[in-house]
Amino acid sequence: MDIVHIASELAPIAKVGGLGDVLYGLSKAQVKKGHRVRVFLPKYDILHVDKLSDLKVVIKKEIYTLWSAEMEGIELMLIEDHHSEKYFERGTIYGEEDDVDRFLFFCHSVCQILAEEAPDGIHLHDWPTAACTLLLQGKILFSIHNLEYQGRCKRENLEKFQFPYDESLLSDPLYDDTLNLMKGALNLAHAIVPVSPTYAKEILSSEFGFGLEGVLQQNREKIKGILNGIDTDYWNPETDPFLGYTYSLSKGLSGKRKNKLQLQKQLGFEQNEHRPLVCSITRLVAQKGPDLIEYGIQKVLELGGQFVLLGASEDSEMQMLFERVQEDPNVFICYEYDEPLSHRLYAGSDMLLMPSIFEPCGLSQMIALRYGSIPLVRSTGGLKDTVFEGKNGFCFTTPDNKEVANVLERAFSRFGTPEWDALIQAAMETDLGWEKSAEAYLDLLR
Ligand code: ADP
Repeated sequence: MDIVHIASELAPIAKVGGLGDVLYGLSKAQVKKGHRVRVFLPKYDILHVDKLSDLKVVIKKEIYTLWSAEMEGIELMLIEDHHSEKYFERGTIYGEEDDVDRFLFFCHSVCQILAEEAPDGIHLHDWPTAACTLLLQGKILFSIHNLEYQGRCKRENLEKFQFPYDESLLSDPLYDDTLNLMKGALNLAHAIVPVSPTYAKEILSSEFGFGLEGVLQQNREKIKGILNGIDTDYWNPETDPFLGYTYSLSKGLSGKRKNKLQLQKQLGFEQNEHRPLVCSITRLVAQKGPDLIEYGIQKVLELGGQFVLLGASEDSEMQMLFERVQEDPNVFICYEYDEPLSHRLYAGSDMLLMPSIFEPCGLSQMIALRYGSIPLVRSTGGLKDTVFEGKNGFCFTTPDNKEVANVLERAFSRFGTPEWDALIQAAMETDLGWEKSAEAYLDLLR
């Protein structure tokens, strides 16, 4: 099959969160199955082009240049903009005031390129690519990685780039005089794919629908939840180049213990393999339950553990939330996005705390499972589909301090017992690869 992905992220060259990982893992799985896979992506100034080979110009137009490149069998199609606003030269992927225009420009350019073609399937990902449904013909899948971000805009935004549109399909359900790109895609795509079966059900309710639950209910027959996987070659504790010591179930876990001791030393913690080391690796936004993480840190200290928070955030108010705990000698906090450190944390920690308010799929808990760090999660969305109480992790239902305290107490009481070893084994044996889900996507395209 000839498959086209259109996306705003692709790990490892342009990643903000799980979306980048999914594009990488799914595309690679489809390439492995013998399909032709192209990924259209903006040519951001921050793109790690050193990881690409064969970078060359395909077409040069007044308003954009299309570049092609190759990455592990995936054909990359990169849109460089020549717009006076320099949309992709902002030193960032998201977070600009004109994000809607930036991604409308991207969508419009890609659609012009694809106008002459008829690939077997076109796969769009989240609101930045939603506007492609207004121009493209053919079979279109639209994946919902996160319904919170919807691409709200004005008529003028679409008119600026000459998108044709039917206002009734795009009018925002919550705000007057506002269009909603995500809503348009939900109405126009042939299939809607939330990234886990549980999230597919949750978003039909007002608690998780962010105002689009009605639109989703109307399009119910097109919805099919497909669980994300992780790329088990990239996320592999047996070969991970970022680790001081590699390890696996078959060769033994002494490497994991050594990684923990090395991490404790690097972070200035007491080096003691008997003290539980807990981490959170996340974008620090309301969705991820930052106040519950902060409470979790206090509780871990009370229980005698150590805590590392790798929480990407440029928001000083968010950072202030952790003021109370950040000076503690048993706490280390980094507000950066740090890929190598994230690998060392998955490998060197005993537990990962993930108290999400909602979680479409969640990859951090899957990576933690693969590295034998036991996830403590709120059972919602994909967390509910991947972590099971007492089997490969610990779960709670209500996102409040009491339940966070309980889950930590339950986990700490098992730590260091034979039961804990069985948990690590089950965690590392959890089936997390893309094999099954890539097949489910291909079935939909067929
Ligand atoms: P989301 O997509 O909502 O951010 P996921 O759990 O699906 O959450 O995916 C998060 C991905 O981003 C994982 O690969 C995780 O390791 C990575 N990540 C999150 N925060 C950081 C950070 N501060 N530094 C490095 N990697 C991070």
